[in-house]
Amino acid sequence: MGLELTVDGERWRRHLVEATRARPGIVPVAKGNGYGFGLGRLARRCAWLAERAADTGSALDLMAVGTYPEVSQVVDRFAGDVMVLTPWRPSGATGADPEPHGRRVIHTVSRPTDLEDLTTREPGARFVLEQLTSMRRHGMTRHELIEVARVIEDRKLPGLCGIAVHLPLNVSSHLAEVRRLLNDVVATGLRTRTVFVSHLSPAELTALRSEFGDFTIRPRVGTDLWLGDRTALKATATVLDVHPLERGETFGYRGRSLPRSGHLVIVSGGTAHGIGLEAPLGDQSLRNRAATIARSGLDAVGLVRSPFAIDGKQRLFAEPPHMQASMLFVPSGGRVPDVGEDLEVRVRFTATSFDRVVVV
Ligand SMILES: *Cc1c(COP(=O)(O)O)cnc(C)c1O
Repeated sequence: MGLELTVDGERWRRHLVEATRARPGIVPVAKGNGYGFGLGRLARRCAWLAERAADTGSALDLMAVGTYPEVSQVVDRFAGDVMVLTPWRPSGATGADPEPHGRRVIHTVSRPTDLEDLTTREPGARFVLEQLTSMRRHGMTRHELIEVARVIEDRKLPGLCGIAVHLPLNVSSHLAEVRRLLNDVVATGLRTRTVFVSHLSPAELTALRSEFGDFTIRPRVGTDLWLGDRTALKATATVLDVHPLERGETFGYRGRSLPRSGHLVIVSGGTAHGIGLEAPLGDQSLRNRAATIARSGLDAVGLVRSPFAIDGKQRLFAEPPHMQASMLFVPSGGRVPDVGEDLEVRVRFTATSFDRVVVV
């Protein structure tokens, strides 16, 4: 019942081992909704992968979370260190307590003043220095890194664990940018040769490792690890109710009606689960989708394609999703599912809260 994620456990675990083996030194990333699985489950998987270090070749001594509040959701399940990807700031929740979990947290420092602040509170704090990339989200310029290198030397700060580099997605090759960034690290005089990178392919990693033999390059990976084998994952919703609908008959919160007869199909899964009106992921192009809706004569009334599929066909929302359920419209002629039947849902795993995750 409800919106469920079913995981083919054997297939998923096999992929996790293979993905880890293909990325030596991997730092698994578990943040937000835990990529659909939940943070606790991912932390346990990191512990499980750490036990297989001899097989994968990766020690798995470190995982990453997105925010400080997320740390407490993983520390009891995973025994290694926990890197926080959101940069340290002196104010707000992120700055509350530099060492809430002993020495297991590795902070991300993205501004020179934050290093001062963090290490004034906690001189032994461990940290990575984030380097500004073409993302231009967080990070320090070469000039700022030189400044920070001096502070680390002058104050003999012991906690430098490496450099963090966050690269954009959808770039054909990151190599030129990473080369420039690594050369900058050398030029700053910083005494670390460990770099944590995101969004590099296994081939790019191999190329960089052979070029920069004195560096330890550690990939931070979320999506390609947890969601890398989509065939192991299935999201389903339960049919909760079915009602015949005559043409022109009113229904829904807004008392609207449709120019065609058919059935209303009420399914589990609504805004509370992250089900939205925006175009969901799917295999239909925009053009196909527009054509499908136009052919069914429902374009004029503004119906939008839903992520819920019956026999592989994504059906239209009869009205915008409700908090925990959604109303679909199946025009007459289409197969009407039974109450209790499970329908496939095409959702973005990183934006969906499932009622239940079932590993089979
Ligand atoms: C989320 C995140 C990652 C992992 O991203 P994926 O695309 O899920 O692999 C890596 N690095 C940083 C800084 C992140 O915020």
